[in-house]
Amino acid sequence: MIKEIHSKTILNHVKQPDTYFGLKYNMNLYRGCQHQCIYCDSRSACYQIENFADIHIKANAVELLEDVLPRKRVCGTIGSGSMNDPYMPIERKINLTGRALKVIARNSFPVHIITKSDLVLRDLETLKEINKVYAAVSFTITTADDELAKKLEPGAPPTSARLEAMKTLSDAGILTGVTMQPILPFIEDTPKNISSVVELAHQNGTSYILPWFGMSLREGSRDYYYDKLDQLFPGLKQQYVQRYGSRYVCNAPNWRELDDLFQKAVYKYGIATQMPIFTPEKITKSKPDPQLPLFLDTDKHGLDG
Ligand code: SF4
Repeated sequence: MIKEIHSKTILNHVKQPDTYFGLKYNMNLYRGCQHQCIYCDSRSACYQIENFADIHIKANAVELLEDVLPRKRVCGTIGSGSMNDPYMPIERKINLTGRALKVIARNSFPVHIITKSDLVLRDLETLKEINKVYAAVSFTITTADDELAKKLEPGAPPTSARLEAMKTLSDAGILTGVTMQPILPFIEDTPKNISSVVELAHQNGTSYILPWFGMSLREGSRDYYYDKLDQLFPGLKQQYVQRYGSRYVCNAPNWRELDDLFQKAVYKYGIATQMPIFTPEKITKSKPDPQLPLFLDTDKHGLDG
């Protein structure tokens, strides 16, 4: 079901200093996400989204932005892509993200987008305009294998399309990188997968890769994920139940080995593992804990797109 809603606000102030992406504001133009990744944390009960497959379009989002941005006293980075993907398929038709970015460009605000879609290229010219201040795009890539991505992220474009889009943006001078998370235990946690993602990201212009060798599971997201495991990988759910019980943070059993391999690979290619953070005054380096996911609290402003 797709329906339009009217929202009271469009920018949420990020309460804690955001050490990953340096966000000051979060902007969610939709509720629900058509990419339907089987592991999506936005299904968690704490977010109170009744049916995550239902898409709610914030029809008055552009008007709200036009009203609020000129009145903002603090010019900080606006993030999009934390609770849904701003370039899900419906965006192709209604161009809500595209229109919002134009308002942001006119008001000279910096932007960081997380996405799994090459549809972001449609807004390349607007992003170039925003990049006169600052624009960055992070692509979430969890597997180098397009066939596996189709199973895990059924509504999203394949990994190969995301990489091509990253290359185009990078060639256009936009800061691009990879959020390599989650890495699903017993599915994506192979040395071959991690090496391949790093290699491909390098070939396609990544400046940084933010990894997490594990995933989160909690009420709301766990049952959905386990049902999908039963359909797609029979027998695997039992391994999860045995190893993780009701744990929220589920690190891959071999995460240290993977991290070791990852660190060597990014060092070889000169890829950063922290995102350069933009502030209106200066650029500083973020200091994330490498083995914590981006979205451990409910003031979610990390992943994903
Ligand atoms: S793209 Fe992101 S928000 Fe959308 S379903 Fe996938 S993980 Fe969830």
